[in-house]
Amino acid sequence: MKILITGGAGFIGSAVVRHILADTDAAVVNVDLLTYAGNLESIPAALQSERYAFTQVDICDLAALNAVFAEHQPDLVMHLAAESHVDRSIDGPGAFIQTNVVGTYTMLEAARAYWQSLAGDKKAGFRFHHISTDEVYGDLHGTSDLFTETTAYEPSSPYSASKASSDHLVRAWGRTFGLPIIVTNCSNNYGPYHFPEKLVPHIILNALHGKPLPVYGDGSQIRDWLYVEDHARALFKVVNEGALGETYNIGGHNEKRNIEVVETICELLEEFAPENANSRASGKGFKDLITFVKDRPGHDVRYAIDAGKIQRELGWVPQETFESGIRKTVQWYLDNPQWWQRVLSGDYKLDRIGDAD
Ligand code: NAD
Repeated sequence: MKILITGGAGFIGSAVVRHILADTDAAVVNVDLLTYAGNLESIPAALQSERYAFTQVDICDLAALNAVFAEHQPDLVMHLAAESHVDRSIDGPGAFIQTNVVGTYTMLEAARAYWQSLAGDKKAGFRFHHISTDEVYGDLHGTSDLFTETTAYEPSSPYSASKASSDHLVRAWGRTFGLPIIVTNCSNNYGPYHFPEKLVPHIILNALHGKPLPVYGDGSQIRDWLYVEDHARALFKVVNEGALGETYNIGGHNEKRNIEVVETICELLEEFAPENANSRASGKGFKDLITFVKDRPGHDVRYAIDAGKIQRELGWVPQETFESGIRKTVQWYLDNPQWWQRVLSGDYKLDRIGDAD
């Protein structure tokens, strides 16, 4: 079985590639433009694997995508490539419309033409799995409500609006053209190989460098956290076993306020790296670095996922609690400075291998 993965050099896509190559027999074709968020150093073992191919392609380039489909003849598609950072979508929404909306439309057209050219079992088994976010549902103000697969879309940021648009396009291609599609909407991920602009790695690395730990507003925003490797396992299960045309919400049942996440990281760093010079120079602890900053415009208050459907129908449950996953994550950043130092310095962009297909 060969799976075409878009965005396989990103945070979640790289976890999916690592999972597939380590734990399954499937082959992977990684289609990634290598924007600032793409890093082939996140999939070191893949580069040695005979079951892995990489091609540096923009998902907005239809001719290039048609050529990738024709050459690799994938059985399944997992579409993860996207612009993914909410703050960047506020500073510059254009790239989000281009990649998330136009790029998904272009992927759908390339996949449709390819799927229509297939026959027999290969055609019957084909799936286009679109990976999306719980942010499309907008805000939960109550403390007990949960997002289900039928919650109405009410996106707040340019990022979530662009992902909502892409979800609608995918479902329309299923309904109108019969393209075999599946959609998943997942909560906030965290874990190894996370680009340092996102909350968890940003806090870990700033703390290690003795820099302020910025927290939006009063830090009371609630997110439902899922360890990225649990998400990768869920995605592989859905693309293989999920029912056609269905949506599955994926979440960890781990609701935490942002300030709790930051404080937990500080406590773990005190435990794992008490000798850290930056924190000790002033005689203060990591929590003293916490700095409340002006809230993000349009900031959603609470997200929380009801992951009951994927649990009931596909038997998926996360293996990590927030407590176990965040411990692994902090330890990973302490053990892998070579990865994040090259990201922080920009050196990870220098020796990109280009099209190593
Ligand atoms: P990421 O920003 O870490 O990675 C995105 C990848 O897509 C990068 O490798 C980048 O090079 C690639 N890419 C960007 N534009 C491209 C283009 N035009 N053509 C080809 N490749 C391109 O993102 P992530 O956090 O790994 O998220 C992956 C997917 O999962 C996204 O669709 C995102 O919306 C969704 N998602 C993310 C989260 C989360 O917490 N990070 C939660 C739920 C859903």
